[in-house]
Amino acid sequence: MVHEPSMLPLDALDNLRKGNARALAGERIYGSGIGPERLQELIGGQAPYATILTCADSRVPPEHIFDAGFGDLFVCRNAGNVLDEVTLGSVEYAAAHTGCPLFVVLGHTGCGAVGAAVAVVKNPDAYESHNVDDIIRRLLPAVLSTKPPDLYRDKIDDPAWVDAAAYKNVKNVCNQTTQRSPLLKTLIKKGIFQVVGAFYDLASGQVEFFME
Ligand SMILES: [Zn+2]
Repeated sequence: MVHEPSMLPLDALDNLRKGNARALAGERIYGSGIGPERLQELIGGQAPYATILTCADSRVPPEHIFDAGFGDLFVCRNAGNVLDEVTLGSVEYAAAHTGCPLFVVLGHTGCGAVGAAVAVVKNPDAYESHNVDDIIRRLLPAVLSTKPPDLYRDKIDDPAWVDAAAYKNVKNVCNQTTQRSPLLKTLIKKGIFQVVGAFYDLASGQVEFFME
């Protein structure tokens, strides 16, 4: 039984754009609120307007980036914002049980997890642990597909490669989401769910959205 969507996907995206604009302008209203009244409103249930998968990096907190309050965002985080079964199941849960109409995959500049994957490509012996390797394995397709040609290798510094790979990983995760989830695919066909990629600039605080 699929829950009725709380709003249209594009309206949810508009909420995020406006929230990021408020955060950048220093005009925060904390979305739907963070006070005791808002907590009371939410006792009976939640209807978040966006599910966000982003990096566990302490510099990328979605509620601060999008000026959101309690009950606004359904957030999944891990180092490198990779997609595993638990994460995909969480996205499906939010869509089916809370009516959340939008899934945003939010990568960011200067990602340490992607940097670790780049380091492994440069030096395959850079082993840390099998758990870290599980993250890196999921990031490798993006890292390898953005690897600078060896001829020009000395002209492209690692930060540029890391950012290009992080951007590509967002696109890969967006594609994987629809490929691996018949449930979400059905909701997208009905026009009540959308998957969107986004990239956060640590330096400016700005989010760039791109449709998938
Ligand atoms: Zn990161």
